[in-house]
Amino acid sequence: MLTYEQIEKTLITYGSTLFPCSFSDYLSKNHKVIWGLLIDPAERKFHRLFGNITSNDLAQFNTGFHDTIAGYKTDAKSVFPNLSADADVFLIAKQCLANSAKEVDALIIHELCHWYIDSGLQASHEIAISKTDRVEARSLYRRTGQVNEHITRHTIQFCELLCAVAGRAMKNSKMFSSRQEIVDLAMIYDVDGGFRV
Ligand SMILES: [Zn+2]
Repeated sequence: MLTYEQIEKTLITYGSTLFPCSFSDYLSKNHKVIWGLLIDPAERKFHRLFGNITSNDLAQFNTGFHDTIAGYKTDAKSVFPNLSADADVFLIAKQCLANSAKEVDALIIHELCHWYIDSGLQASHEIAISKTDRVEARSLYRRTGQVNEHITRHTIQFCELLCAVAGRAMKNSKMFSSRQEIVDLAMIYDVDGGFRV
C-alpha cells in the first residue's frame, strides 16, 4: 500500500526531472502551491492527501465531488474562488494506493502531462515530439474514447506528449521495461486493448 508521502514525492520528483520547466520552478514562479486530494468513491468525498489544505478548502472541494481515477487541475481558484491559496490540485482515487508502484508512477506521469499542457508550458517550454512519438501517439489516440475528448483532454497533442515523456522517463528508470509499458499503464483506464503499434 503506497503512503500519501510516497505519492507526493513521486509527483514532485517526476515533475522536476521529466520536463524542461520543472514542477518546482513552475510553482515558485507562479506563486502557487500544489495540493493533493484523495478521491473516496465509497464516501463520495475528497480527503486531504498532501499540502496545507484547510477544512474550509476541503469543504469547498466537496461541494463539487467528482468520482474519477485521477486528475490534475491547474488553478483551482478558477473553480473555487474562495480557496485559501493559489493552488493546483492533483487527485487520485483511494483504491489506486493498493496498485503497484509502477502503475501509480505511470498514472502520475499521465497527470503531469495534463499539467504541462494545461499550464501552457508545452507551448512555452516545449518538449520536442519525435517522428516515433507521433506514430505511437496516433495509434494510442485511436484507442481513446474520442467522443469524450472535450472532458478527458486526451487529444492527439496529449498522446504525443505522453509518448515523448514516457521516452524521457525510460532513460533513468529501473522500474519500467519499455516506454510502451509506461504508456500502457498510464492509459490503462482510458483505452481499449492497451497500447500497441
Ligand atoms: Zn487524462
